[in-house]
Parts: sequence; C-alpha cells; structure tokens
Amino acid sequence: MYEEDKKIYINIYDKGQDKIVTKELEEMVKVLLAWSVPISFHMEALKAQSIIIRTNLVREMKVYGGYGCKENKEADISSAYFKEALPLENYKELWEGNYEGYLEKLGVAVEETEGSVILFNNKPIDARTHLVCGGSTENSEGVEGNVVQYLRKVLCAHCQGSPYFINHKDIPLQEVEKKLGVKLTRDDVLNAASIDDIIDDVVRDEDGRVIKIKIGGKEFKGKEVMDKLKISSTRFSWRPELIRFFTLGEGDGLGLCQYGSNTMACSGRTAEEILKYYYTGVEIKKIKNPSIHKPLKDRILVIDPGHGGEESDDYTGMQGLREKDVNLSIALYLKEELKNLGATVYLTRETDEMVHLNDRAIMANDIAPDFFISIHQNYFSHPSKSGTEIYYFRGDGRAKALGREIMIALNEDLKTLDKGIKQADFFLLRQVMVSSIHLETAYISNPVEEKMLMEEENRKKAAKAIAKGIVHFYRYL
Ligand SMILES: [Zn+2]
Ligand SMILES: [Zn+2]
Repeated sequence: MYEEDKKIYINIYDKGQDKIVTKELEEMVKVLLAWSVPISFHMEALKAQSIIIRTNLVREMKVYGGYGCKENKEADISSAYFKEALPLENYKELWEGNYEGYLEKLGVAVEETEGSVILFNNKPIDARTHLVCGGSTENSEGVEGNVVQYLRKVLCAHCQGSPYFINHKDIPLQEVEKKLGVKLTRDDVLNAASIDDIIDDVVRDEDGRVIKIKIGGKEFKGKEVMDKLKISSTRFSWRPELIRFFTLGEGDGLGLCQYGSNTMACSGRTAEEILKYYYTGVEIKKIKNPSIHKPLKDRILVIDPGHGGEESDDYTGMQGLREKDVNLSIALYLKEELKNLGATVYLTRETDEMVHLNDRAIMANDIAPDFFISIHQNYFSHPSKSGTEIYYFRGDGRAKALGREIMIALNEDLKTLDKGIKQADFFLLRQVMVSSIHLETAYISNPVEEKMLMEEENRKKAAKAIAKGIVHFYRYL
C-alpha cells in the first residue's frame, strides 16, 4: 500500500468523451518522451528530456498550484496535449526488432529522474525545446515579446552535426506574394528584365527574338541558348518561379536545443548540467507527493496574534469589532489547521491577554521556528481603503516568497485585494531572528471588511488560506 501512495497522478480531460481520466504522471512522461526525441539519443539527453516533459506537466497540475485545464476545471490538462504522442505499444513496429531494448531504455530515463522538475524562483518553468538551434538559442523577447529570465540566449555549437542543421524550402513566387502580400512578378513576360548577377545585357530584334544575352557573366547568342537549354524558340523570356529559402536550425530557438543536448550528453555531460546550460539560473529538484497527508511534517511555526488584553492598543471598527479579537480568532483556527497538516505550532498568546512585544520576540528566538507569522487587521482614517498587506524584513527573500503564497491564497479564498508585499522595519520583524512576516488581513476601518471579519466562517477561511499559502511555499522544498 505504501508504494501505491508514493505515485503521483494527473487528471486528463478527454473532450471527445467528456470525461476525466486519471493517469500516473510517470507513465505519461514515458509516452511523451518516446514521441518527442529519437530513442537513439544518449541516456543523459533522454533524462534531460524526461525532466523537461515532467516539468511542463507539473506546471499545469492543480495540486502543485497550476491553473489546470481550461476546458474542464476539475482536470489538470486536456487530452489534446497528448494527441500526437502514440501509445507505447505502437512503437513495436516503429522500433522494429529493438522494441524491448528501447522500452527498457525509455523506462530507465524516466525512472532515474522520477519526480525531478526544473524550478526557477521555486516554480516549475515553461520548459521550451526545439530540435536544432543552428548556432545559438534565442532570448524569449525575440520570439514572444516578453522577457522570461530563464529563457536567455546561449551559444550552441553542439548541434552542428545534426541532420537538421542546414535546411531549405523551395517556395513558389506566387505563394510568397500571396502570404507576404507583395508583388514580385511582371505580367508582360516577353519583355522580361535582367536579373542581377544572373541575366544581363539582353539584345532583341524588332520581333522580340533574342540576338545576344549575358548569362552568369558569359555572352551567348540567342540560338545557342535555345539549343543548349532545349527551349522551342529564340523568342524567349524568363521569370523566376521559386525561391529557395535556406535555414539554420529547426524550431523557434527557445530553451533547450535537443540535438545540442544529445551532443553534450555524448561528450560526458549529465542531464542536470545540460538543463542548467540551456535554462539560465534554474534548479533541478524532486517534487513532493501531494497526496501525503502531512505536508508540513517537521515544520515549526510561531503564530503571533497581534495586541491583546485590557490595555490593548489595537484598532476598533465602526461597528465595534476589536482587532485583537479577530487576530486571536484567526490565529487559533490557523493553529488547528497547521497541526492537522503536521506542523508543530506555538502561539504567542492563546487568550485575550497582554504580551509585551519584547516577550514575543524572546519566545520566538527561544523556539527558533521555520517562520514567525504576526496576524493583524489594518486601519485607515478613510473607510474606503481595503485589502490585504503583507510585510517582511528587508533582504529576507524567503519571507517575501511565503508572503506571496499567502497573498495569492487570501485573494483567492477570502476575496481580498492584493495591496502589496512590502518591506518594513517593525520591531518584531527586526528582533525575531528567523524569517518573519507581518500580515494585515483586511481593513477593520472599512465597514464591508469589518462585517466580513465578524463572520466566524470568514475567520476560518482566512486561517485556511494562510495555511494553504504555507503548504504552497513548501511544496517543492
Ligand atoms: Zn543547438
Ligand atoms: Zn495591529
């Protein structure tokens, strides 16, 4: 049963049958791998490609914070994504006598990279690939207009020997004219003009017969050309009908060059080295199984409900709601929530009591948790101001990243507005020696938000959203 639990599943929406099919993630990686690169590639190149495929799938998966399938909200991805990939049985013919061996090779590439994905800023990247780059890959803005930090141009001499390095396509002029909306040909064909460097110095008689002509710099009589080229008259003309376009490389040049990757693998580079070469600044990590029921096991958190006690300096809303009470209530729900997720949780106060800021800092520093989270409600002199603000101490990228996840979750679940994740120099942010955030859930001075905070259900919702943000923060760590 334990082995079963370790598997990760992806939900695929089959539009034709209008139903969701659940498949093992690693099986789908195999199917896509067989289709996307030649199986004759070096093992490390196959491993690199497996990690790329898995990254792109995980990026869509809802359990990992992906957006899921546009056509069916319950699913992760549409079956159209796998449309061109054939079931593995179909390779019996394609791989002829080698089927068993290649299938095993495929299995090794996927199993040895099981769970590995490419992350940038702790999120799965959009892992682009192309067959052959032709000398260098592209900057994202050169292809799609927007700057993606990990899709930077890198030189690639690795794909030069590939079968697709130089290519050409012959396109009829008419087609070029039509597709580009330009005019290239002349209608009066019997008065054809010279073509630079090819045909010059044409002399015709009054009937249009060619007397003399220079082709490729050499002079000919009209009759000579007629005989040598076996055309039926000296009253001839010409017009180019095709343009041959030469191309270096194959594909848009974004991300990893697949033939380059194979050459690097053949010269001893590992899958990880290859991926880090083509994707700038990324990390390769194994994802955690989302079905584990205790995603925050071994995490220690200190939750700090702001203010408290008789002499409290907290804010009061227009309808009489006290900030200290809301803070405590959310903190208590959050404690339950986090404990259920496996975390060890401490509160700086569990009742309506006064605890000095200094004592809160001492407590936090004694425990040395993974995070210290202060919970407050905001206040402004004008009642119209609303939304969530989150503060962190300057330079603490880890706290900022947690803040971002909590912000997203609160905006989604409590429907608050994102009013920013900002730096601040508050006493506790400064004095607590571990990563800390100060959360202003909503504005108690805004009558609508005050009313929202009065509802027990919404405090629970806020607590659940904060917990969800924490789980999301840890999902790849
Ligand atoms: Zn290349
Ligand atoms: Zn406060």
